[in-house]
Amino acid sequence: MPIHLLPPQLANQIAAGEVVERPASVVKELVENSLDAGATRIELDIERGGHKRIRLKDDGCGIAKDELELALSRHATSKISSLSDLEQILSLGFRGEALASISSVSRLTLTSRPENQQQAWQAYCEGSQMAVRVQPAAHPKGTTIDVADLFYNTPARRKFLRTEKTEFQHIEETVKRIALSHPSAAFVLRHNGKTVKRYPGGESGNHEPRIASVLGKKFIQNAIYLDSEYDGLQITAWLGNQAMIRSSTDHQFSFVNGRGMRDKLILHAIRQAYESVWGVVEQPAFVVYLKVDPRDVDVNVHPAKNEVRFQRSRLVHDFICKAVCEALDSEPQQAELGSSSAVEAGSQK
Ligand code: ADP
Ligand code: MG
Repeated sequence: MPIHLLPPQLANQIAAGEVVERPASVVKELVENSLDAGATRIELDIERGGHKRIRLKDDGCGIAKDELELALSRHATSKISSLSDLEQILSLGFRGEALASISSVSRLTLTSRPENQQQAWQAYCEGSQMAVRVQPAAHPKGTTIDVADLFYNTPARRKFLRTEKTEFQHIEETVKRIALSHPSAAFVLRHNGKTVKRYPGGESGNHEPRIASVLGKKFIQNAIYLDSEYDGLQITAWLGNQAMIRSSTDHQFSFVNGRGMRDKLILHAIRQAYESVWGVVEQPAFVVYLKVDPRDVDVNVHPAKNEVRFQRSRLVHDFICKAVCEALDSEPQQAELGSSSAVEAGSQK
């Protein structure tokens, strides 16, 4: 076969393979877009684990009528315009890929109204066939994105979808993680019309009420608080005590500059601290917020942005490990502690 350019729809579907693994990845991309748009209230309506529908409504800055089509195109973003922007990224998105990818594997309707636009407009596109129809609609300031029939045109990917229950659990996890990173935004999560989670908006920078509603009051009451700074690095953390050691990693949340991730280096540093202070080899519970100069961290490692690369990785690792060690060291030993299932008891299901 001679070399030829792939048609845009196929290129988008290939890119979607990396960004859109399952309904929860759509939720992550959409919610991140809302947060980047300054939304203070984000409502998610999921039908049948996201197999049937994922609908998000926000009160963010909205998208102007003449930019609706562009927002759905690949490599179209309002967040960066140069390499130097990329090197010090503050927004959650920057690849200009999510909406193009998602729309290439679903039936997507985008409705939006910026504050200064009298009327809302709606764009519909199906499987990235950009015969986008734009028509007037009714909508308050903000955006609604409706993603129906995910993977309807990519049967191979559709086959990998798990049960509706499992997919919804992944969505819940995703929402918890993002809710922990943005305590000032309010979140509502509904499944098949029923409200499953409701996180009221709080004061920006005050994480405790949000952590309490995600991990339970018991967690926050018993957690060891840590706040430490060194050479441009800052860690704020709530560390589970010995009564909160678990066999699974489901109560481990780490964030770098407001972005949730499961970064190996961070996890390793924390676990090493628990092991060296308390001899713990199972999974501690923790919520850790790390702040690093954006120029010292590369988030453009993977399309899903779940990993980062630190320029001074050794320093970051040792800083986290030392700070956590010191915090744990200041805690009384297990014999002096109470209930053994504090996390489960307090967690809101
Ligand atoms: P990226 O987030 O990497 O820029 P996306 O494909 O996710 O790429 O989104 C493309 C563009 O569409 C964004 O840069 C933004 O300008 C706009 N956009 C997407 N979602 C929203 C939203 N909820 N509110 C306002 N603008 C949005
Ligand atoms: Mg985005």
